[in-house]
Amino acid sequence: MSLSQGRSYLAIPGPSVLPDRVLQAMQRPAPNIYTGELVGLVDSLLPDLKAVARTEGKVAIYICNGHGLWDATLANLVTPCDRLLVLSTGRFAVGWGDAARAMGAEVDVMDFGLRGAMDPERVEAALRADTGHRIKSVLVAHVDTATSVRNDIAALRRAMDAAGHPALLLVDCIASLGCDPFEMDAWGVDVMIAASQKGLMTPPGLGFVFFNDRADLVRKGLDRVPRYWDWTPRTEAALFYQLFCGTAPTHHLFALREALTMLVHEEGLTHALARHATLARCVWAAAEAWQAGGGPMLNIAERGARSHAVTALTTVAVADGTRLRDWMEQQAGVTLGIGLGMVAPGNPEWHRYFRIGHMGHVNAHMVLGVLASLQAGLVALDIPHGTGALDAAARVCAGASG
Ligand SMILES: *Cc1c(COP(=O)(O)O)cnc(C)c1O
Repeated sequence: MSLSQGRSYLAIPGPSVLPDRVLQAMQRPAPNIYTGELVGLVDSLLPDLKAVARTEGKVAIYICNGHGLWDATLANLVTPCDRLLVLSTGRFAVGWGDAARAMGAEVDVMDFGLRGAMDPERVEAALRADTGHRIKSVLVAHVDTATSVRNDIAALRRAMDAAGHPALLLVDCIASLGCDPFEMDAWGVDVMIAASQKGLMTPPGLGFVFFNDRADLVRKGLDRVPRYWDWTPRTEAALFYQLFCGTAPTHHLFALREALTMLVHEEGLTHALARHATLARCVWAAAEAWQAGGGPMLNIAERGARSHAVTALTTVAVADGTRLRDWMEQQAGVTLGIGLGMVAPGNPEWHRYFRIGHMGHVNAHMVLGVLASLQAGLVALDIPHGTGALDAAARVCAGASG
């Protein structure tokens, strides 16, 4: 008998759960896009976005998804034949590099595998070897959503400085912003990208490029930048429509206003980050217990390199990841994420991989509910697993409430 009726939980790593208040904020007539309330609303978003990014730099807002942001950053910084260094720990920095190659850049990919973080020492050595300073930018994902690894961006900046290399540091925080601690200015990040649909609890469709003066200097040195992607009018607009290079994304902006009010002004960023940290430890505690008895394995063994936004797991038997996902959706009303980037397309091994999204508008009962449902799925499908997973997860939540 299916027990999936009731409120469902889309526990994939983006788009994330939309708060009812964010949905309700969109239930209103179209506003004037030339003057009035919308203009003030957009002004109010900028300091809140920068507060979440921990930067005093600028932010340009685009009507686009994450892939659009990759083009947006490159269009402002890269000319054909520029050389870029991509640090690969999964799928997403490589995707950014592919976008750069499509613009005619020369892209070197440094591969750190799928089970751990990038190694700053290897990056430092590569930058030292680039004595002519041909590498213009280093591209990395803070959290790679495919592997659920979190890279140490502060250590990466130290490595770049130790090598005395002037390349810009470009960081993809699409999965991590608002979930994993990130300090754009303190960590010396030149460009950071984030999208609306993950930690920021807003429907997909808004993209944010944060940049500092060093990056802007590179932009100002380019001969031509495609009009739509140019970040200059979007941050130095004389007229309101220039902020969006056309009609403003009105209802997305209402949604984002509500989400940022919840995140920045009500809960507070510090608490939201601590909440994500605890809920992530809840997931790990359960998964470590399952794994100890031959159950699904955490993709990232080192705790310090695991994201607080998403957790990637691998089942021992090839078919079991897909069986579990199907069971969860059909029997329990929880949709888990598919495996991404772990094996080549078409490889049956794909069915071993699944991911749990725990980003944004999630709380203890949602995460404990996913874990308890997974426990039921393991039992129902006769998949081997260790005992004590739910006790271990509950202990993490109980400890946090003290
Ligand atoms: C989701 C994600 C993207 C891609 O975003 P789209 O909106 O699907 O284009 C890029 N980078 C990271 C790290 C992501 O998590």
